[in-house]
Amino acid sequence: MDQVAHEAEDLGWLSAARPPRIALVEGVNDASSELVEDFQVTRYELKVLARQYLEDVKESEFEYAAYQQAGSTETTKSMFGMRRLGSIELVLGEDVLAKALAPVEEKWRRRFVDLKMDFATPVKCEECGEEFYREVLYQVTCDGCPWTP
Ligand SMILES: [Zn+2]
Repeated sequence: MDQVAHEAEDLGWLSAARPPRIALVEGVNDASSELVEDFQVTRYELKVLARQYLEDVKESEFEYAAYQQAGSTETTKSMFGMRRLGSIELVLGEDVLAKALAPVEEKWRRRFVDLKMDFATPVKCEECGEEFYREVLYQVTCDGCPWTP
């Protein structure tokens, strides 16, 4: 059986096909990524899938922006999602896909604005009580205090 090898191949060090097997990701490089035969999707269904793939991409981007790191699973899903979006775009066309993705784009645009506000708003250091600006979302102490996650 064919898997969605086209979009899953060459995910580099993240690929489960080559060591180290860091990220075996459901739907990307595990047994469930096997293609289903004798079932075709509608254009509407492609839009639904595209929105989910964009969610995966944005989730990973947000995680990196908020915490300056992203897990191998999220990174793999993001890379795979971008490739699937490219394949879906070839079928639906750029304009139709962009229209389908607009609500997801807007939702994440707002989340990134909120995140920027979090970083632009001073918080009190949990150690010394001094106000400081965070560089990552989980930062709870200022530069002058020992870092505790
Ligand atoms: Zn402090």
